Amino acid sequence: MKNRINIAIDGPAGAGKSTVAKMVAEQLSFLYIDTGAMYRTLAYAALKNQVDGNDGAALKELLDQMKIQLVNEKEGTKVLLNDQDITMDIRTAEVNKQVPLVASHEAVRLEMVERQRVLANEDNSILDGRDIGTHVLPDAEVKVFLTASVDVRAERRHEEQLKKGMLSDLEELKKEIAKRDELDSTRAVAPLRKADDAIEIDTTSLTIPEVVSAIIDLVKKPVSR
Ligand code: C5P
Repeated sequence: MKNRINIAIDGPAGAGKSTVAKMVAEQLSFLYIDTGAMYRTLAYAALKNQVDGNDGAALKELLDQMKIQLVNEKEGTKVLLNDQDITMDIRTAEVNKQVPLVASHEAVRLEMVERQRVLANEDNSILDGRDIGTHVLPDAEVKVFLTASVDVRAERRHEEQLKKGMLSDLEELKKEIAKRDELDSTRAVAPLRKADDAIEIDTTSLTIPEVVSAIIDLVKKPVSR
């Protein structure tokens, strides 16, 4: 019997999923699981080991040798690959570009989904990704689909990167985000899609605290289960 509460947050790149999910997790004392970081870790390892992003079997073989840990800390989620801290390495433009291809293979997704379900079962948890409500946790108690226009998403990412002291090119970001959305939405296996029972929240004209409190209201709302 299920004795955990799961929240699924899906949506396109840069819709604010991870920022919002982290804050909801903090306020509700839930475990936050960044599933995108797992796919990014595989993309990073594939680039490093020169494994072809088109070769699903080789990627799965690589993944089988990878221990991926998501360690939640005050400053954010620390990502460890076989005990090595790669938190910053998975956020590069190169990884951004490679990750949708790596994430498109069925063998890769089956393994990732299994790992994500194990994590989600450890505690009350909030997962963010592309296929959480549709595939990973179809029985999640609360499902949210976050959206915003490409321009707004790129501008937010741009601000975020500048704040972190990273180089950032707004026009490049717009192109990268639009391309990644297209690849994620059109892949054959578990494409980015709003689950039929997900609540869609357009964050274009909402502040982060407003989105967080809208989600917390959904969790607190008594539902017939
Ligand atoms: O969420 P984030 O932007 O870090 O995700 C990076 C990429 O990982 C996505 O563009 C997508 O290709 C892949 N992904 C996925 N399924 C998920 C989470 C992420 O395919 N549940």
